[in-house]
Amino acid sequence: MKTNFPGDIPTLHKGLAEKEFSAAEITAHFLQVIDEKNPRIHAYLTVFADEARAAARALDAQIAAGEELDILAGVPLALKDNILVKGFPATAASKILENYQAAYDATVTEKLRAAGAVILGKTNMDEFAMGSSTENSAFGPTRNPVDESKVPGGSSGGSAAAVAMDGALVALGSDTGGSIRQPASFCGVVGMKPTYSTVSRYGLIAMASSLDQIGPFARTVGDARILFSAIAGKDPHDATTSSYAFDWQTPPLDNLKGVTIGLPKEYFLEGLNAEVKDAILRQVHEMERAGAVVQEVSLPHTEYALAIYYLVMAAEVSSNLARLDGIRYGYETRHKAENLEELYALNRGEGFGRETRRRIILGTYVLSAGYFDAYYVQASKARTLLKNDFARAFDTVDLLVTPTTPTTAFGFGEKTADPLVMYLSDIYTVSAPLAGIPALSLPVRGKGKMPIGLQLMAPHFHERQLLDVAEYVERANAVA
Ligand code: GLN
Repeated sequence: MKTNFPGDIPTLHKGLAEKEFSAAEITAHFLQVIDEKNPRIHAYLTVFADEARAAARALDAQIAAGEELDILAGVPLALKDNILVKGFPATAASKILENYQAAYDATVTEKLRAAGAVILGKTNMDEFAMGSSTENSAFGPTRNPVDESKVPGGSSGGSAAAVAMDGALVALGSDTGGSIRQPASFCGVVGMKPTYSTVSRYGLIAMASSLDQIGPFARTVGDARILFSAIAGKDPHDATTSSYAFDWQTPPLDNLKGVTIGLPKEYFLEGLNAEVKDAILRQVHEMERAGAVVQEVSLPHTEYALAIYYLVMAAEVSSNLARLDGIRYGYETRHKAENLEELYALNRGEGFGRETRRRIILGTYVLSAGYFDAYYVQASKARTLLKNDFARAFDTVDLLVTPTTPTTAFGFGEKTADPLVMYLSDIYTVSAPLAGIPALSLPVRGKGKMPIGLQLMAPHFHERQLLDVAEYVERANAVA
């Protein structure tokens, strides 16, 4: 193809409008990349080749008829396998949903389709979005396209890898405790978890409902901005959504004058890899040179964040997954059950993987009579304290800058033996969903080959400034 493809969404839009290439050609190009790379990387669980080609042809007919194009028209994208697309599998990478076909479109799917985006397929993930490496997928892990001996992160590892291997221009994932930002950081792409309530969760297979948010993966901050604006907004199907119109068209910042950046001191303590720390501090220094005022802040309850997350999340997981019993749909045991209780135990015991079972058991325990007050209620109170930490910090600063993860991508099997070691890779990402605030991971340069993620966090509904500043840093990195 005679262009600097894959480029970004605005380049693609311009090329389509000026008939430099057709949507069919673009789609064919991405399907070919998937054919070549997916057998090794395993970013996709399902590829909708025929439907994608048909959608692209329909779009080409509209272009030929002179119809005006949405900015997302013809954009080849991937959806995490916990987002429903009517008539297609939605497994959430679990054996219990292996043969399940979605009965309706998620609101985000509907919006993307209406905008003319071309859905290429569904991406791999940790089972029910529980994990930090995609090693918990019932269908085998995804490899990191930057270094195939490394994990891509998780749980949205497939979406991050699909974008990183150029097998999709952008993708959607879901983030409950870091599942967009951590894999974005490991694979060297942009990932954003929006403010809780800005994106409809209708048609997202629930993990922990007070934390889950759908958000974009992209190669550029600008593309993440476009994708976010397309999926945000009030939805009558999800009562928790807020009216939040977000306009992606915004002039770029010339400098960072007037922006105050906070560095939470609790995020730069032991456990943070030196290369990651250096890369982040170098960026902070650049931001200061661009006019930002940088100051240290404290989020004193950070030390409790992982404990709070693993109690609140597990409690919600246990109730959300209670509906999966293999009776109306889903995995059915081959063994003969003597009674209903035993049938549940067999279907669920065989259908769910190890990590899912662990969290259901933990969650059921913390919600049980006698322990509810000691664990769940206590964790909910501590969650409020953590949220107040952020509110206090945002009284004095506009944005917070931290590393996204304490290390770069790790190897397969390195952390699977001890769940607590695996959980530590979420130490910097669990707080934003607990507080409901938006957070973004931006790839920045390190000394080694593996990508490093810089995390920016902002007050509720401040995506605009979050993205503006991220875009400035991205541009400064590109020219430096
Ligand atoms: N890695 C975290 C966990 O295992 C976060 C998952 C997520 O955000 N869905 O729970």
